Amino acid sequence: MRKPEDFPRISLGVFPTPIQRLNNISEMLHTNVYIKRDDLTGLGLGGNKTRKLEFLLADAKQRGAQIVFTTGQAQSNHAMLTAAAAGKVGMKAILILKKRGVTQRLGNQLLEYLMGTDVRLMDTDDYADIYKEMDAVGEETGLPYYKIPCGGSNALGTLGYVDCAGEIAKQQTQRFTHLICAEGSGGTMAGLALGAKLFLPGTEVYGMMVDTDPFETITPALMRETAGLMEADVTITPEDYHLRDMCGPGYAIASPQGNEAVRVMAEKEGIFLDPVYTGKAFAGLLEMAAEGAFGPDDRVLFLHSGGAGGLFAVDMN
Ligand SMILES: *Cc1c(COP(=O)(O)O)cnc(C)c1O
Repeated sequence: MRKPEDFPRISLGVFPTPIQRLNNISEMLHTNVYIKRDDLTGLGLGGNKTRKLEFLLADAKQRGAQIVFTTGQAQSNHAMLTAAAAGKVGMKAILILKKRGVTQRLGNQLLEYLMGTDVRLMDTDDYADIYKEMDAVGEETGLPYYKIPCGGSNALGTLGYVDCAGEIAKQQTQRFTHLICAEGSGGTMAGLALGAKLFLPGTEVYGMMVDTDPFETITPALMRETAGLMEADVTITPEDYHLRDMCGPGYAIASPQGNEAVRVMAEKEGIFLDPVYTGKAFAGLLEMAAEGAFGPDDRVLFLHSGGAGGLFAVDMN
């Protein structure tokens, strides 16, 4: 098997990220809740895409790319971090984003403005149009270019979260019973679920779905593809991952439960979640606790996957 450390990688962040016990929330839920601080990955305002980009941009560099394209919605944290990372390693990022949601110079749009990023908003709801546009723009520049898919969620990006599971295995002094994350494009969840199968035996991984894509098929497919890349001899079964719908009114549309979860975390622990991903994911953890899913001796690890940029693009009144 090829482990994540056997793949080309560019250092972009600060690892390992800390794991902290959330004392007040643990007391409130009568269990042990810990947080993996991937909001402190050290690039931009932090976030999960840094781990994926370490592998994706290493691949882009190796292929001689001078331009990297990526996409997402107008407030994509992934697109913002791709621009930050590309600038750091001397490549030019061109972001072709969906022209919906908040496009004012707020949140991630503000951060992209500060970095001088080439941002183009496209009036489409179909990513196929955007990938076609990337090729058109790329050909026009005459320079070698590299396309990163939405959320960086291909097998290479997913490797970043297989690696995170390995990092957790090294950090833990006692086994975590549950590992909980947000699932938006799938790479984080697929990487953690595959990584847990390889490095964290006995830890159950839960993906809190914040979009309406068919994650029942996306998750195992991405796990298998990444296992293939790693030449890992594993059979992925439905027992390897758990999914829960926390999308609410729609992707990138705040839900009352998600907003309440953002406030609980801020008030009890002084840690800021975001309304699009981590707030909804933490609301899922709170729901599971209310259903009696966690016992007093369980050890629940919540992945804080970032999203600070997006927090400043919404009105949470
Ligand atoms: C992208 C993102 C996620 C979801 O990760 P995926 O790998 O796309 O499923 C979660 N939290 C934040 C803050 C993100 O930006």
